[in-house]
Amino acid sequence: MDFGIKGKKAIVCASSKGLGRACALALAREGVELVITARTASDLEAAAAMIRQQTGAKVTAVAGDISTEAGRAAALAACPEPDILVNNNGGPPHGDFREWTREDWIKALDGNMLTPIFLIKAVVDGMIARKFGRIVNITSASVKSPIPNLGMSNGARAGLTGFVAGLARQVARHNVTINNLLPGPFLTDRLRSGATHTAQQQGRSVDDVLAERAKASPAGRVGDPAEFGDACAFLCAASSGFIVGQNLLLDGGAFNSSMS
Ligand code: NAP
Repeated sequence: MDFGIKGKKAIVCASSKGLGRACALALAREGVELVITARTASDLEAAAAMIRQQTGAKVTAVAGDISTEAGRAAALAACPEPDILVNNNGGPPHGDFREWTREDWIKALDGNMLTPIFLIKAVVDGMIARKFGRIVNITSASVKSPIPNLGMSNGARAGLTGFVAGLARQVARHNVTINNLLPGPFLTDRLRSGATHTAQQQGRSVDDVLAERAKASPAGRVGDPAEFGDACAFLCAASSGFIVGQNLLLDGGAFNSSMS
């Protein structure tokens, strides 16, 4: 299937690894020109080189912290008129909400709610003027089914989801779509570090913890980031203009419901 986005320009945030990188790679396969970001320049350059080598796409690596104004300005300077924006960022830490300070909460809200909102604000009017825009926010399955020890993630992402639900309906008539992708467990560094933490706490092996995660899923496995990237590219397709304000859960069926 030709997604009809060859030659389009995309900013894919937080994309040297994991889900962000998978989205970048899937878009590059469709012939999209990329700006990718992450804080660690060496990892980012390695991701850019891998994507160029696998796809032949033009990839510009912009190192910086996307949670900061300077980081966002640098990404936007490299791609002032993106057709596609994939919002992603590191997730807030695990823990007990009794230990979190106001500063901890502000950091979580900044990273997982306000950063995507300010990037949307920077690009959405240009998309409206050009009559094409695809914005995909990577959030979490925790938006639908809160994870007990990830309270800041549950809260900040729910805030973004509420804002986006309103804005998506205001811009859809201009062929600008905003949708959210909600990952369940995908085998990335973040999942591995969470499994390592659990393994250390419980005196088990990391493989054992990951096998348990896989077994708990109706799909019998954790997700492959490439599957996530393909879903992102699909939401960015020219023919996806009627998919508006949706929250697409990619969790192997873990959320138990007759209708998602
Ligand atoms: P990951 O494998 O740890 O990758 C995170 C990527 O984001 C890296 O490229 C990292 O590079 C970059 N990054 C982190 N903070 C950044 C910042 N402030 N500015 C710019 N880049 C930044 O994580 P992932 O598993 O792909 O997760 C991506 C998002 O999905 C996270 O918000 C996570 O909470 C959420 N999520 C993941 C899963 C899962 O199973 N994997 C499930 C639910 C939700 P640098 O560190 O070099 O900046």
